[in-house]
Amino acid sequence: MKANFHTHTPRCQHASGTEEEYARAAAEAGFEVLGFSDHCPWPYRTGYVSRIRMTCEELDGYIAAVHRVREEWAGRLRVCLGMEAEYYPDYVDHLRRMRDQGIDYYLLGQHAMNSEEYPGQWTASACEEDDDSVLRFADSITEGVRTGLYACVAHPDIYLRRRPPERFNRACEEAADRIAQVCIEQNIPVEFNLLGLDCRKRGESNCYPVPAFWQYLSRWKVKTIIGVDAHDPALLRRADLWQEGMDTLTSLGFEVLDRLPVKGV
Ligand SMILES: [Zn+2]
Ligand SMILES: [Zn+2]
Repeated sequence: MKANFHTHTPRCQHASGTEEEYARAAAEAGFEVLGFSDHCPWPYRTGYVSRIRMTCEELDGYIAAVHRVREEWAGRLRVCLGMEAEYYPDYVDHLRRMRDQGIDYYLLGQHAMNSEEYPGQWTASACEEDDDSVLRFADSITEGVRTGLYACVAHPDIYLRRRPPERFNRACEEAADRIAQVCIEQNIPVEFNLLGLDCRKRGESNCYPVPAFWQYLSRWKVKTIIGVDAHDPALLRRADLWQEGMDTLTSLGFEVLDRLPVKGV
């Protein structure tokens, strides 16, 4: 079965294409399951306004839009309703509330170290040089996964995004160990991210998936899954990326899951 659980919508302000266009692209590319997982809104207590995610006011519209495509495509494509969310201890109740409102699954995408995404707070920036940040990142993944709220760790190698390959050091290995161990403990997969793979192929050589990370991670029996991370319907049609992801993971000996345990699959 071909399934993708990592799909955005224009509500996040950096994706294009309607839900209907994502569904059509997925069905035409041979997917049986399409999970929407747009960047989740946070009810910032400081009044901070994010430019990379929907607002809390847009949540109902997101849920309604995904329900609509689910009905329209019934019998041809199974549509799931999720979100990509960071782990911020102060806002875990917010994730629980959105689950009660109908969000069926969360991908743990730890883009920033703190809920307010000011420069320097981005995971990739914080971890570029600083080993303590690398370990702090791994600890937040560990704590987050242990909440039991997340079905998968999206781009677990995001902490290496700005690190030159020669700086994949012992701290980076230690972080990979911690991530693998908690995912094994909680029986959830790590994601091999195809949006990042496309960036790498177009010349952003530091972007995830980072070869040294996956090579190192392969000592663990951690489960994996491929995530398209579509911010444009066209990425769902990229059979070349899908195949390369599958080839990379299987050649390293990883088990590749074809689904997450999500309602509607
Ligand atoms: Zn995004
Ligand atoms: Zn994403």
